[in-house]
Amino acid sequence: MTNAAAERVNLLGLERPALEEYVSRLGSKPFRARQLMQWIYKRGEGRFAAMTDLAKDFRALLEERAEVRPPEVITEKISADGTRKWLLRADASQAFEMVFIPEPDRGTLCISSQVGCVLDCAFCSTAQQGFNRNLTTAEIVGQVWLANRLLGFQPGGERVVTNVVLMGMGEPLANFRNVVPAIRILLDDLGYDLSRRRVTLSTSGLVPQIYRLAEEVNCALAVSLHAPNDELRNELVPINRKHPIAELLEACWHYIDEQNGRSVTFEYVMLDGVNDSVAHARELARLLAGHPAKLNLIPFNPFPGTRFRRSPMPVIQRFRDELIARGLIATIRRTRGDDIDAACGQLAGRVVNRTTVRLGEKRMGVMVQP
Ligand code: SAH
Repeated sequence: MTNAAAERVNLLGLERPALEEYVSRLGSKPFRARQLMQWIYKRGEGRFAAMTDLAKDFRALLEERAEVRPPEVITEKISADGTRKWLLRADASQAFEMVFIPEPDRGTLCISSQVGCVLDCAFCSTAQQGFNRNLTTAEIVGQVWLANRLLGFQPGGERVVTNVVLMGMGEPLANFRNVVPAIRILLDDLGYDLSRRRVTLSTSGLVPQIYRLAEEVNCALAVSLHAPNDELRNELVPINRKHPIAELLEACWHYIDEQNGRSVTFEYVMLDGVNDSVAHARELARLLAGHPAKLNLIPFNPFPGTRFRRSPMPVIQRFRDELIARGLIATIRRTRGDDIDAACGQLAGRVVNRTTVRLGEKRMGVMVQP
């Protein structure tokens, strides 16, 4: 790549006001930004030369200064159940993953927000890789742009990606600065125009950022709870030592109030003999009953070197039934793509670890930058 190309502005990283500003800096009217967005997001077009309703000299200028560049695909794997996983390049030595889960009535794209993760959750394969860097807004939005292209989306045709979940590699709220504009592009009617219920951010529980998120965007919130008490959660999700369950739940209820949302989805990974007893289910029900909460039970997906095992299905069903009997809404997440290591918690990518400070140690705030 030449130097000039390296300095090009990737338009996938600019939410509407930023794109308008960029366009006017190039000497064009801000409404050109709308046209650009139509081409990029509605038509999936990345070549300025093809954007025929833009003035020729404006196109030439864009050609020189800007680009629409999604992450590059390194490999693709397709599961027997139709789930697809792509390894995407972050740089010469590093990569992150993206997964598409087709269902009869929707297509869910699971995207990454960081190369690796600092949070060090005991049962997650990404945690074992350590952390290298945040993905840029262009790399986050670029995953959706790329998936549409790879999955054969046609302009004017039916949506291929109907739902986006930030449940891939990384902790999205630890990359707040880049994730928020990306979500805005997903929701923007000139962007992907997804409804706020079809964009879900999943967090391990960065409490201050949940409050900030409530002010900045309106999307669905999922929280990785995984334990009904602090003692156990401290072990499984170490960020809990900084932001314990009571604080976390308060932030969740605030989020729902602020956004007129329906409910927070609490993810709960089912670990054999660890957090899956009927007593745990009752404790969980006491915590959440009467609140706008839904439980999503995730059968644990194993990965090399893990000390955990998946709870047997009858145990998971009993756990769910106990929650339902106590008035909660609870579902079991169907495992998808596990034959290609594309299931929850199996995404590993390639990460050159730069973290010396791990969560759970004293200085954990250091790496979790807004
Ligand atoms: N860091 C964010 C986004 C990751 S979402 C978060 O923690 O929410 C991925 C979901 O899969 C999370 O709920 C995570 O806790 C869960 N998960 C992680 N490892 C898993 C595993 N091995 N099996 C099943 N679920 C897992």
